[in-house]
Amino acid sequence: MAVAARQESTRQAILAAVTSPVADRLRTLRGPVAPRRHNARTIAALTANPGCDRRAVLDAAGVDKVLLAEQVGHPARFGQSPFAISRGVTFESGLKADGHRALLAAVRERLGLAEGPAAVLDLGRSEAAQLSNEERHERTRQALSRADVAVIDHPMLRVEVAGQPVYLEPDLVAARLDGQLRVVEIKSFPIIDGRADQAKVAAAAMQAAVYVLALRQLHRQLGRPAADVSADVLLVCPRDFGNQPAVAVLDTRRQVAVLSRQLARMTRIADLLDRLPEGLSFDLALDADGVSTRPAGELAGALAATSARYVPECRASCELALHCRTEARGSTGALGASVREALGGAADVATALALAEGRVKPGPHEQESARLLRHAARLRAEALA
Ligand code: SF4
Repeated sequence: MAVAARQESTRQAILAAVTSPVADRLRTLRGPVAPRRHNARTIAALTANPGCDRRAVLDAAGVDKVLLAEQVGHPARFGQSPFAISRGVTFESGLKADGHRALLAAVRERLGLAEGPAAVLDLGRSEAAQLSNEERHERTRQALSRADVAVIDHPMLRVEVAGQPVYLEPDLVAARLDGQLRVVEIKSFPIIDGRADQAKVAAAAMQAAVYVLALRQLHRQLGRPAADVSADVLLVCPRDFGNQPAVAVLDTRRQVAVLSRQLARMTRIADLLDRLPEGLSFDLALDADGVSTRPAGELAGALAATSARYVPECRASCELALHCRTEARGSTGALGASVREALGGAADVATALALAEGRVKPGPHEQESARLLRHAARLRAEALA
């Protein structure tokens, strides 16, 4: 009965969300195509640059940023190679074959646990895939409340981003083998002699933190302490260059704290939408072959109507980085926070140069930075001479 009541209230909440004026506006922005799903990478990237309204709006509307970037003439230059993707699929299927046998053995060995039976529930099976997001989310919640389930594969998680519910369908395993619920992240990059690419490990830790946060929210709804979901994530990668797994424990406490803080600080989508011009649309007007027919200039104009905050970190996390970098050329912010600081906080390069060369009179708050810039310019001239 309690489950039925909860399902009904979830349905009502979702119905309210999808039929709200905000949802209508987001549909107009996106055009008549299915929205792109959020994933842990997009949420982690949102929090990497929380001041960027452009990204927040495009992601909330589910706009295909890869296609949009292509259409405005600045295709994204990052993403996994097809080789890495197929290698990852092979590695993961090997781990999950035969009731997740290899995965469970590796995790147990790393945690120092004895062998034993473990009930595995796969919520991503084809019959479950026919269900709606909220139904799958409810199934995940039910699975978490069952004491006899030790491992949940493909849970459907939900987090709130800028006031909107966002569903995550991770290729993720939540395992409860030693009393605590743990996120198990399977990645295709190798751990060689106990070491892995630090940038990839950092990205994996941030994405895993999104799952920790979502699982903790679910746990709270079940009336359980959030701390039952461990912040120690199990990262499973190929050992050396083979297909045998190596398991590392990642402490994601810092990432979980950063993520919670940034998500809490994000401006609500409704407020961001209020600042956009009426009728603004990123509809790519796809033809029968799925090719965008909307003129590039028109789409670039639509992008210009949203406020962006380009920083060099965007290049590693956002599909629109090349477009936004071109747009931000000349601003000191585009060179990074440390450069902007070193230039005395001047908003653009031209102002910093003018202050350094004494061509403009510094304002009351620019006296000190102008003096330092003139000094730096003198040193540079001497060094070049
Ligand atoms: S690349 Fe552009 S849209 Fe993406 S986060 Fe950076 S500034 Fe925002």
